[in-house]
Amino acid sequence: MALKPETSIQYLKGVGPKLGAVLSKRGINTLGDLLDFYPRAYEDRRAARTISSLQPDELVSLKAEVVRVSSYQLGKSKRKIYDVTIRDATGLIHCKFFRVPYKGYFDRFQPFQQVRVIGKVTDYKGKKEFHHPDLREVEAEEGVEDALIPIYVEIEGLSSNKISRMIQTAIAQIEEWPTDKIPPWVLQKHNLIPHKKAITLLHEPPPDQGQLYMDQKSEAHRRVIFEEFFWLELLLAARKAGFKKEKAPVIELNADYQDQIRKALPFALTGAQERSLKEIFGDLVSGHPMHRLVQGDVGSGKTLVAFLAAAQTYASGFQSCLMAPTEILAEQHARNAEKFLAPHGIKIASLTGKTKAAERREILAALKAGEIHFLIGTHALIEADVEFQRLGLVIIDEQHRFGVSQRMSLKQKGESPHFLIMTATPIPRTLAMTVYGDLEVSIIDELPPGRTPIQTRMAFETKRPQVLQFLMEQLKKGRQAYVIYPLVEESEKIDLKNAIEEYEKLCTQFPDIKFGLLHGRMKGDEKEAIMQEFRVGNIQVLVSTTVIEVGVDVPNANMIIIEHSERFGLSQLHQLRGRVGRGEHKSFCILLMGYAVSEEARLRTQFMEKTTDGFKIAEFDLEMRGPGEFMGTRQSGLAGFKMANLVRDFEILLKAREAAMAVLQKDPQLKFAEHKALREQLLRTHGPMALAAIG
Ligand code: ADP
Ligand code: MG
Repeated sequence: MALKPETSIQYLKGVGPKLGAVLSKRGINTLGDLLDFYPRAYEDRRAARTISSLQPDELVSLKAEVVRVSSYQLGKSKRKIYDVTIRDATGLIHCKFFRVPYKGYFDRFQPFQQVRVIGKVTDYKGKKEFHHPDLREVEAEEGVEDALIPIYVEIEGLSSNKISRMIQTAIAQIEEWPTDKIPPWVLQKHNLIPHKKAITLLHEPPPDQGQLYMDQKSEAHRRVIFEEFFWLELLLAARKAGFKKEKAPVIELNADYQDQIRKALPFALTGAQERSLKEIFGDLVSGHPMHRLVQGDVGSGKTLVAFLAAAQTYASGFQSCLMAPTEILAEQHARNAEKFLAPHGIKIASLTGKTKAAERREILAALKAGEIHFLIGTHALIEADVEFQRLGLVIIDEQHRFGVSQRMSLKQKGESPHFLIMTATPIPRTLAMTVYGDLEVSIIDELPPGRTPIQTRMAFETKRPQVLQFLMEQLKKGRQAYVIYPLVEESEKIDLKNAIEEYEKLCTQFPDIKFGLLHGRMKGDEKEAIMQEFRVGNIQVLVSTTVIEVGVDVPNANMIIIEHSERFGLSQLHQLRGRVGRGEHKSFCILLMGYAVSEEARLRTQFMEKTTDGFKIAEFDLEMRGPGEFMGTRQSGLAGFKMANLVRDFEILLKAREAAMAVLQKDPQLKFAEHKALREQLLRTHGPMALAAIG
């Protein structure tokens, strides 16, 4: 039998059903899957180094001897750190692990044992260390001093070496390689080597290119990374092209009506708000569905922009809806819409999980009859029995909490409604081009006038008494404040308990102050009642978990204290901080943290102290944490990258995007013979929906 990449892995020499099952657990079912199991690193035996010569940030490979293996706890935290100390003739260095790679991993290493370590040198408080290096026993046959060896993440019972040999067998035995999926003219234009060659090189790297391979900058890497980006960009470009073909309600600008609403506002729009609105109105009148992302920093006034678009939709005889990620936010939006829009004839209703059955029935009937013009709610809006008479505009607030599928289910509620998506997390350009690559983007890069900048300070937990004293001073002046506790999924119960305990402690310590407690486990109306008390000032200090993270707007609150701030991502901290600085009073953000925090946590906090620009913070955050963490969700379509890195490979992303657009321009429906493989691949990876878009 001629082996092909699609052939089941069991047919590979030396792999039977048992090993096949082990590999299958790791998603390796075919020979092709095996070839796509890329090395995690390379070991350059020629470039072997000594400990004393290491420089921070270098990716190196060196041989050393184990001194000891130990573990300890950091401060009060429950996290354990494992330390394998190693030395060579020139010095000693610590290899630190913040989690156990797999059970029994550390049992492998004993004092005096020869090991090879491959990893990036980290500078920790002026000392050089390895964090999570690749560490393994030196094997007996290791003697070839000038070789570049691929290192694989070990699979249950399969050493890196064995995996390497298996892959080489596969490469040697595959007889039928399919034609390259990327068309030749794209390969040529972007100087890419063929797929087969790239895969072969990754697994059998040329010995003289150690640094290039270790840095993932070789031509083989470039080809694979390009391809990863290319499939995503092709899908996005296809979707975008598809939108342009659909028909959508034509929503004309009614200038008199706009003026009427604007004149009644207590403020004038900022230039950036005006600009975004103009872009939105341009889309609404085009006859094709708008798919626009409005990005703006916290407090930049995105809601109002959306409201004015909804008003316009009403004036053209269509309905709008707005979906927010939390009940608190939905309620807040509904209240504001009542204030700004209801006086101008727009009938508003709000629909959340807590809406009573009878009221819900009434709302749904009115909605279907076209008597409600603007429906505001949570994901309760998606439910099947929510039917509109003439849905023209869908607004989604704080989009990164919703997936594309939710966008799609709302789309089906109208013929082909316009979409306006607002995000308060500024998104770095790289991410906007991948996750939101099918959207047009408007940016509100200006805050309404009269905001005083927020002063941010980091404080160690030991300074809590002083922080609380400062809090009391602010309260005496009539201000309000937030105290925020992180809720991390893994330890949700403990964290929740901590938040409740701290709340009780504060209540006893300051009996004259009115505290309120808010967390995600509370019922909708309980939460709303607490928020209402806080809004009117009956509650002075709101102790909360991160449920208040997005959107909440209480201008009299001018201080926010964030406990365990090291546990939050920067973008999240920025969101939280954005709860203050919304009124005329000088505002403060205190980031509390324990002494035993990492150098990285300190760096991040310092960045928060000196920057209030959400876009800069987002970029820094993306760089530090990577896109998966940044988006806080796996559904973002970024989990699919095996090798590509949005930050490091930005240049390649641009090229892949350019290529995807060029392909669709040349052949909008992918009908050419040379694009057959593209069509098939889109179908395979993204289903018929992807192709439906281009027809
Ligand atoms: P975000 O962009 O974070 O969603 P919001 O829409 O909640 O911001 O707006 C923040 C606050 O600024 C609200 O109280 C809103 O009424 C107010 N606001 C919006 N636009 C302006 C403006 N042009 N001038 C003054 N205040 C404004
Ligand atoms: Mg908002």
